Amino acid sequence: MTPLSEQNPEALHATLGDLQSRYAELQARGLKLDMTRGKPAPDQLDLSDDLLTMPGNRDHFTESREDARNYGGVQGLAELRTLFSGVLGAPPAQIVAGNNSSLALMHDCLAYALLKGVPGGARPWSREETVRFLCPVPGYDRHFALCETYGIEMLSVPMTPDGPDMAVVEDLVRDPSVKGMWCVPQYSNPGGETYSDDTVRRLAAMEAGAPDFRLFWDNAYALHHLTERRPHLVNVLEAAAEAGHPDRPFVFASTSKVTLAGAGVAFLAGSPDTIRWYLGCAGKRSIGPDKLNQLRHARFLRDEAGLLRLMDGHRQRLAPKFTAVTRILDRDLGGTGAARWTDPEGGYFILLETPEGCASRVVELAAGCGLAMTPAGATHPYGRDPHDRILRLAPSYPSLAEVEAAAEVIALCTLIAATEARLR
Ligand code: PLP
Repeated sequence: MTPLSEQNPEALHATLGDLQSRYAELQARGLKLDMTRGKPAPDQLDLSDDLLTMPGNRDHFTESREDARNYGGVQGLAELRTLFSGVLGAPPAQIVAGNNSSLALMHDCLAYALLKGVPGGARPWSREETVRFLCPVPGYDRHFALCETYGIEMLSVPMTPDGPDMAVVEDLVRDPSVKGMWCVPQYSNPGGETYSDDTVRRLAAMEAGAPDFRLFWDNAYALHHLTERRPHLVNVLEAAAEAGHPDRPFVFASTSKVTLAGAGVAFLAGSPDTIRWYLGCAGKRSIGPDKLNQLRHARFLRDEAGLLRLMDGHRQRLAPKFTAVTRILDRDLGGTGAARWTDPEGGYFILLETPEGCASRVVELAAGCGLAMTPAGATHPYGRDPHDRILRLAPSYPSLAEVEAAAEVIALCTLIAATEARLR
């Protein structure tokens, strides 16, 4: 197809007519597809089926002969903290193993910071006139929703291939009302970027206006490679400690996309003071986490090698879906100038960048064809993409055949929206 920019209005009208006939054909197929969220597919969950019968009848003692059925142990099982020590980049004593959701840990850290303050702070954050967070954009909608629900003002920071634009970050963070920053340092949601060594070191070392500034380091995709390559990520806890800011990073991860998304284990890692602070707060909220779930995870995963083997199984199931999307987008959109898209090396998302003002139209057209997509704007604070350009594609959950059908719909809808935009 001739690039849209080289077509005169007459040619564009003819193109649009062709595209609309193809759209009517797709509509007639009565598709019902969902690409809204990055959920593991059933065949990925099947990889952890053994968990459903674990820890097994009468197997309920931990390595330290603690009865996992009972109350207590708010820091979580030592053997599981040891197993995840390499992934989190912290010694077991500086890790908390919790219940099933790292988002819940992020929520709790934020809520405790608002209600009680954090080490090094003069007062609870809620007593400040204004609390602001830096938000690399595009980013994860649930991070933004947490800020919104607690009245935290969000300041957008553009992403670069190396992570957030550090010149912008270093400038904004001098404002003492900036108390935190969201970071998805590896295979970022949704752009797939991994922070460079320089970015991590600068985040760890920068001078913040607030003495109690925190990095909410959400390493949700630490193990979620789609290729044989393994990116290098500087250990943020070590870098921050070396730079004299040991308490700065709150490091989060979970097994939601390793074992069972609704029944995994979430982790928090931080400095000794951070862990003491967190346990002090969390110990009031609960007498302890679900240790039986932690025990069965320790039994099932066994060691870090077991963890990596399991992730290979995920990669084998996920990678073909990502390849299918990029292959179809290349085939149907390549050379048209109607969009750009990422070809991520890990994580759960493909980012599609449409021409200005087209993203919400693509979602609307896709819905008309039976494909539910993440709403346009979801990747931006307050749900507003000022240029209406960015879309997040989540190919993990549908079957390969459904992903292929969905990619065809997305390509066609993008072409229609881009052609309409050129005719406006
Ligand atoms: N953080 C990021 C960046 C995510 O993309 C997701 C899920 O999509 C989560 C956190 C949710 O993590 P959890 O299931 O541990 O709450």
